[in-house]
Amino acid sequence: MRQLPDTDRDIIHLANAPTFHRLLEQITATGGCAHPVHLTGHTTTRDTVTGEILHHYDTRTEPGERLLIRCRNRRATVCPPCSRLHSGDTFHLVRAGLTGGKTVPATVQTHPRLFLTLTAPGFGPVHRTTTSGQPCRPRRGTGHCEHGKALGCGSVHPLDDPLAGQPLCPGCYDYTTHVLWHAHAGQLWDRFTRAVRRHLATTAGITQSRFPDYARLSFAKVAEYQRRAAVHVHAVVRLDGPDGPTTPPPAWGTVDTLTTAIRAAARTVTVHTAYSPATGQHTLRWGTQLDVRPLRTTTADADGLADDAVAAYVAKYISKGAHDTGAGTDHRLTTRDDLDTAPVTPHVRALMRACWDLGALPEYEPLRLRAWAHTLGYRGHLLTKSHAYSTTYTALRADRQNHARDADDTPAAPDTVTESQWRYTGTGHTPGTALLANGVAQDLAHNHELAREALALGSRRGEAG
Ligand SMILES: [Zn+2]
Ligand SMILES: [Zn+2]
Ligand SMILES: [Zn+2]
Repeated sequence: MRQLPDTDRDIIHLANAPTFHRLLEQITATGGCAHPVHLTGHTTTRDTVTGEILHHYDTRTEPGERLLIRCRNRRATVCPPCSRLHSGDTFHLVRAGLTGGKTVPATVQTHPRLFLTLTAPGFGPVHRTTTSGQPCRPRRGTGHCEHGKALGCGSVHPLDDPLAGQPLCPGCYDYTTHVLWHAHAGQLWDRFTRAVRRHLATTAGITQSRFPDYARLSFAKVAEYQRRAAVHVHAVVRLDGPDGPTTPPPAWGTVDTLTTAIRAAARTVTVHTAYSPATGQHTLRWGTQLDVRPLRTTTADADGLADDAVAAYVAKYISKGAHDTGAGTDHRLTTRDDLDTAPVTPHVRALMRACWDLGALPEYEPLRLRAWAHTLGYRGHLLTKSHAYSTTYTALRADRQNHARDADDTPAAPDTVTESQWRYTGTGHTPGTALLANGVAQDLAHNHELAREALALGSRRGEAG
């Protein structure tokens, strides 16, 4: 036994324990979560009338006297199985808002629905990849900035060129505004949605305050870091009637008026930063690049984007953090030394340093720039949605738990009361359970792949037929 590696010894020990079968069940129930949370406690369900105990569960009978539950991390680099589950939930959440499902009626398909991308403005020229072999930043003649760097770049950068997204001259690049823009992106979005409502109200000839009596604007948005480490916002926007998805939009609420309102709002909305004796006051706005596309109303409609494609696109981005796209780290930076040693490009490090330095200024304190240096000042959640857009992550999880309970044959009657007490006792795996969890996760991923292939095959047949 002694000569065996830790993992093997642990596996043999686990497999020989009488609780092995149950341990495997628990690991399977977490989907092979890489960092499960350990809980101890009990839950008792009684009939409120008779007081009879209908269901009792206590972790004292479990292997190691604890229950493993999912870590629920959405990031693929942290926990692949939980991230996959979260992506799936995001897909369903976004899709329900587009085509109906869950709590949303299928009639939303006839409401104006758009997919839009709002960009950050330019903060200085960066090297870029181009299609069809054009040079990066061609320029007539030669010219140099005050730092002695060329003002143009005649190179053709391949897609994987580490230079792509890096500034032509870091000395000329406006790191301050870039970071302040990130820190205000949430506010800029809020003002943008208000401006869209205002423009629509003007089109309809009603006052802004009456807008909720006629229509409701719903959205789900996701943030994505570009090569230059600036955030872009992708959003699904839908126009409903006054009571949300169950009510049709007013006659003036068309794809065209919504598109016009979005374009006008994106062009005009601004946020002014707090005045700073060190950096002055900045007026922040969206970049001029704006993409607004209607979603297909029917499958026969060749124009517009397909609902599923948009939902899948949004779900894909949700499993990536700043770290995964090379724009930041997956943990907070607590000292200036952390910034110097973070495994990032010089450009991203310069953005982190800008967060750190500006974070010391009292006028920028509310932006918490040091706490968010690892995401380059951006504080937003990766996915945000308005209340009426569709279902919630919580509802989707509850749905899944109900399915599990149905399979368990445990009654969830209305005349019952449940008392529970839970305590957190730890997290993670032993070398042996980690191996088991990895096996479970790989099996599930493989099944998921097969299911997806079957689905793709089915829909191709459907299209052909
Ligand atoms: Zn997990
Ligand atoms: Zn270049
Ligand atoms: Zn320069």
